[in-house]
Amino acid sequence: MSFYEIYDPRFASYVLGNAPPKRLATGFDWVEGPVWFGDMGCLLFSDIPNNRILRWSEEGLTTFRQPSNFANGHTRDRQGRLVSCEHGTRRVTRTEWDGGITVLADRYDGKPLNSPNDVIAPRDGSLWFSDPHYGIMTDYEGFRAPQELPCHVYRIDPNGTVEAVISDMQCPNGLAFSPDESRLYVADTGRMHSTDPQHIRVYDMVNGRPTNGRVFHKIDQGCADGMRVDGDGNLWSSAADGVHCIAPDGHLMGKILIPETVSNICFGGRAKHRLFITATTSLYSVVLNRNGVQWP
Ligand code: MG
Repeated sequence: MSFYEIYDPRFASYVLGNAPPKRLATGFDWVEGPVWFGDMGCLLFSDIPNNRILRWSEEGLTTFRQPSNFANGHTRDRQGRLVSCEHGTRRVTRTEWDGGITVLADRYDGKPLNSPNDVIAPRDGSLWFSDPHYGIMTDYEGFRAPQELPCHVYRIDPNGTVEAVISDMQCPNGLAFSPDESRLYVADTGRMHSTDPQHIRVYDMVNGRPTNGRVFHKIDQGCADGMRVDGDGNLWSSAADGVHCIAPDGHLMGKILIPETVSNICFGGRAKHRLFITATTSLYSVVLNRNGVQWP
């Protein structure tokens, strides 16, 4: 049995033979938002329908926060603090060093956000997050609410100003900057209608703002959700059949096959070469011959 599909010989050097991905924990309902804390040697991730954030380490699994306000994606800001997208409260928050919660964004143009989904932290100290409507349109979280804003990508300036920076997408979801931050990748993944887009777009960053948006890659199994970038600028994307590795020119290099639909990924471990994978009911990891660079 092969755990990988190789379409570009370079991908064969990225994986360690046919080493199987390891299932670290299971029994969840829909896991998302993995974020690595190297200082604590642990991974935080969301189990969205069960309204909790879990903490995995080699010592085992514990609950980090419950209720989590149906948190989805997370990152760490440039000072290492946890930043979380919350569906239930329709906001982006920062967990302070003393445990306090600071709301970074919950409104735009005087209206409540939809359901912040994923967040990243570029070097300039800003935070970028996507705001699709899944979290207020679906029933599995136990609530519905009217959508009052289009589905934008927003930038939170270090001074706190919230600005819509991408407004030409239907359902922006996973986000990733290229290693030099000259490009921004955004998954546009409608899930409500068969005509919804199912592709990853790329934008050129000019004067700190995304421009020239265009289709970069279309995932051939399901749709892209969370994504990360490695040191060579390859984009690693979630997909229905596993994790897809996509070269900077947009071609599919290979796949890590996972037996459950993958929602998100992040690099972790001492050398940042262990890929953690949240996939429907389980958390997996696989050691690669590639290092992630995406902060954190
Ligand atoms: Mg997502």
